[in-house]
Amino acid sequence: MLLVGEPILGDEEKNALCDVIDSNWLTMGDRVRAFEEAFAQAHGAEDSVAVNSCTAALHLILHALGLGPGDEVLVPALTFVATANSVLYVGATPVFVDIQSPDVPLMSLAEAEARCTPRTKAVILVHFAGYLPDRGAWQALARRRNLMLIEDAAHAPGLREVGTYGVAAAFSFYGNKNMTTGEGGAVIARDGALLAQIRQARGHGMTSGTRQRLDARTPTYDVTMIGFNYRLDELRAAIGLVQLRHLAHWNEARRALTAEYRRRLAAHCPDLTVPFSQPRPTTCHIMPVLLPADADRQAVIDHLRADGIQTTIHYSPVHRMTLYSSLWPDVSLPRTEDFARRELTLPLHPRMDAQAVETVAASLGAALRNHASAEAVA
Ligand SMILES: *Cc1c(COP(=O)(O)O)cnc(C)c1O
Repeated sequence: MLLVGEPILGDEEKNALCDVIDSNWLTMGDRVRAFEEAFAQAHGAEDSVAVNSCTAALHLILHALGLGPGDEVLVPALTFVATANSVLYVGATPVFVDIQSPDVPLMSLAEAEARCTPRTKAVILVHFAGYLPDRGAWQALARRRNLMLIEDAAHAPGLREVGTYGVAAAFSFYGNKNMTTGEGGAVIARDGALLAQIRQARGHGMTSGTRQRLDARTPTYDVTMIGFNYRLDELRAAIGLVQLRHLAHWNEARRALTAEYRRRLAAHCPDLTVPFSQPRPTTCHIMPVLLPADADRQAVIDHLRADGIQTTIHYSPVHRMTLYSSLWPDVSLPRTEDFARRELTLPLHPRMDAQAVETVAASLGAALRNHASAEAVA
């Protein structure tokens, strides 16, 4: 089966894990610190904080910014549910904003501005599929409306622009992301005081960690804020250090495969819409396409599966999930809903080659000819 995504793991990761075992120090030691410094450097940032998921990273950011009950946070609905859940964690209200267009399925700036109220405090920008929104335009909106910009950069590690939009960015190293530690995440925030607060809240709000107490030979610590246990361990950091060294060329491979997809899909599937037709900075995290409005998506999925090709959907919109639709039944996002109905995510990962891209494009072309519409199948 050609999978939508798969990690690249090998002897380097195995050896790195063995070194951690041999060191007899399993969590929050030198490797976590080294990973934080290397990850920051890869993004042109001073420093970063490693955590155990992007979800934890988002929670820590919103918590440190003091967001809470009564505050509204603008979020896209075309995202993974964790983006909106993090807003609920701090008791604030997620306000869903539609996408710009099928070609640019990022949060619409015009609609975001229209949804601002005196209670709107922040925006969480999601770099959907790895494609970055227009930084200057969002920063101008943030100034006009006095909003804090937060990046959910789960799809976009390894670009220097990422982490420079606003107050902070959250990254994911989950197994299907551009680099992985199994579970894991990180925060970049350019304000050192904010990052220090996030670092402390990551570990129960304690004023020092196990390792610092060993080095300082002072066994005591204080707790000066509410904190959480969102720590990363040495095993994951060791994997992260290896993966980070490959990230730039893996992202380059993803961009080359995406360019190849654009050529082959244009040849095999003339009725297909391939979003992000205009160049913009991207990590090419996934390969989303939009089927023609009358295509039978399930039949296309089944056709590709029979050809040994996995596909997925990004995303079922968050505002249509039972939890969210029962809390906010009146949200209507027509462009997001149309996109989500027609979207299909094709395999894209650096182990693929041009031949695999040709196989997928040819299979999709045949599927679309066979299943042009639900009626044709019935
Ligand atoms: C994967 C993902 C997350 C959550 O990441 P975890 O590390 O699994 O918590 C959040 N937002 C987006 C857009 C994601 O794709």
